[in-house]
Amino acid sequence: LSHRIQDSLAFNHIDAIFCIVDDEVTWAVIDRLSEEYGGARFDFCVAVGGGKALDIGKGISRSLAVPVVTVPTIASNDSPASRAIAVYNESHQLIDVAEMRANPAMVIVDTEVIMEAPFRFLAAGIGDAVSKRFEARACFESAGVNSRGRRPLHSALAIADGCYVMLRLHAALAMEASRSGVIDEHFEAVIEANILLSGLAFENGGLSIAHAMTRGLMKLEGPQSHLHGEQVAYGLLVQLALDPHRAEELEDVQSFLRSLGLPTRLEHLDCAGSEGDLENLVLGALTAPHIRNFPDAVTSERLRSAVVLVESL
Ligand SMILES: [Zn+2]
Repeated sequence: LSHRIQDSLAFNHIDAIFCIVDDEVTWAVIDRLSEEYGGARFDFCVAVGGGKALDIGKGISRSLAVPVVTVPTIASNDSPASRAIAVYNESHQLIDVAEMRANPAMVIVDTEVIMEAPFRFLAAGIGDAVSKRFEARACFESAGVNSRGRRPLHSALAIADGCYVMLRLHAALAMEASRSGVIDEHFEAVIEANILLSGLAFENGGLSIAHAMTRGLMKLEGPQSHLHGEQVAYGLLVQLALDPHRAEELEDVQSFLRSLGLPTRLEHLDCAGSEGDLENLVLGALTAPHIRNFPDAVTSERLRSAVVLVESL
């Protein structure tokens, strides 16, 4: 891939300095690389790769105050179009969600490149995207705020709903396409939902319990090594289980997630679900600011019961 990029830049007379990153997204790494490359005068920073490479690229562009172009090579999460940067510590615990001054100037997606990634990434991206409709609605109904600190607009709900409809329509066939390696309209639609709509939906519509649950899952040994979207998929079930009126929807979403091979129980995330696990899970989730973006107050008891319900399905 780097040869293709080099050739393309050379063909277009664009000078570039290349930097290959394979690090955790920490402030130390972002600061070190920003310092290392800060001497050159850049017009923009292009971040190519998976979640970590994109977030490090965003971090450098933030430090050097230049626009960033993101080029995701997998469709596993909602980050490429957003201005958020998830920053971790050395032991892969999320410590900060920093924001760039503006969203990426461009998001370039080549579905031929995305097709080369294992289909587990595509499924994870669907897990991350499918929750947005429920999270945006919960945020809207609870007068919560999005990542800009603003109340979501109806247009954000429309984007989140559209994202959901597209996934329900195309996800299964896109997974088939991913397995067979043939790009078709279903694959293209899911890439658009996973990368663009999912990002627009969370930034404008706000997050809720599904994403709050990832803070708890990251505290547990098994789940923390799973992909973000896999954690969100499980978190979505917990969010739906919090509302007794959504039993039917809970079952429907659960079978949808299961059909895509996404985790619907803690054991699918390599977690036994001991008393201690449940306690850490709930305590971690309650630290997320978006835990408040839910129509009625979420206590540790309620959250625990919701997890127990999901486990019993
Ligand atoms: Zn997410």
